[in-house]
Amino acid sequence: MSTNCQQPKTAFVYTDELSQYQLSPEHPLRPIRLHHMKELMTASGLLTRPNISSLQPRIATRQEIESSHDPEYVSIVEAISDGAIAPGMMEFGLGTSDNPVRPGMYDTTALCVGSTLTASELVTSGKVDVAFAPAGGVHHHAMPRSAAGFGVFNDAVIAMNAMVEAGLRVAYIDIDCHHGDGVQVGHYDSDQVLTISVHESGQWLFPGSGFVQEIGSGDGTGYSVNVPLAPYTQDDEWHRLFDVVIPPLVRAFKPDVLFTQLGIDTHFHDPITHLSLTTQGFNLAVKKLGEVANEIGKWVAVGGGGYDMSAVARAWTMALATMANIELPQSVPSSFTSLQNVTSFDDVPPQQTKSHYLREIQKHNDQTLDQVRTLIFPKFGL
Ligand SMILES: [Zn+2]
Repeated sequence: MSTNCQQPKTAFVYTDELSQYQLSPEHPLRPIRLHHMKELMTASGLLTRPNISSLQPRIATRQEIESSHDPEYVSIVEAISDGAIAPGMMEFGLGTSDNPVRPGMYDTTALCVGSTLTASELVTSGKVDVAFAPAGGVHHHAMPRSAAGFGVFNDAVIAMNAMVEAGLRVAYIDIDCHHGDGVQVGHYDSDQVLTISVHESGQWLFPGSGFVQEIGSGDGTGYSVNVPLAPYTQDDEWHRLFDVVIPPLVRAFKPDVLFTQLGIDTHFHDPITHLSLTTQGFNLAVKKLGEVANEIGKWVAVGGGGYDMSAVARAWTMALATMANIELPQSVPSSFTSLQNVTSFDDVPPQQTKSHYLREIQKHNDQTLDQVRTLIFPKFGL
């Protein structure tokens, strides 16, 4: 990027501690997914490549967390984490099936937020061109005064607040299957952060928001962009909308930093969502984001949702290779034994949707595009 386009200086920010806990025994978010990912990155030889450095995350301070969350809420999370009983916790979204309480939850979340902060600092200081913190991003539903959708403290909002404080303008691209509502709320009235979320429409999926009409408020009007898609949207159709909306808007905004949330719950095997992307469709998006990042010179990437173990391990390994401009072989190395029956990075694509459903999907998505063109594009001279 800024120094060497061919071999971007790439940081991988992670520690095994980030995979060594459970939210609850039946919870779909299983942090162990990051352990499988790390094993696959190691087996693929990525972590010993000269332009990839593995770095330990720091822990976010309470002051940093409170830059984006109500101190009363932060105190309740801390008390529960220490084993206290907080009768009013439901009011803060805690103690639900999505956000169960558990000992140590404050500490693991502060470490997760810290991993995103470490990645951001490495990039903004110019030490690396791109930094990937895969444990981050999954908190994109967390709100200022409540936990939501597996999220407790919103690492992306916290990290971008620090960047804005330092005078930087940030483009946030969220390709998770779910609307990045917490991040949108966190920067809704700001023209310093452009948030773009591409997701399965809230008409069918949690959190039920993320419609094109949510365009920001005050100074931030036009700086919240939503691209809601029909269920069962596949690679080509997903990319048709991505190409029209994302690169042109980011280029027109001219950010200092690109911040991407790379949820892989868009995958066709994902158990809790209904988009139908393949790992190669996901990786093509990472490549396109990399082209835009290359022009900007600073790229922070975090993980996000992803509930199919194989898809997470493969997609984020492919993403790290793409960031570092390294070609992976098609076959998964035989030394990878952490998961069974994972033989190739690319998927055999799912069956093509029947043509009458395809027309319905395109019709819905065309409507989304028309609305984005009407409500957002003029603001950016597009
Ligand atoms: Zn998600």
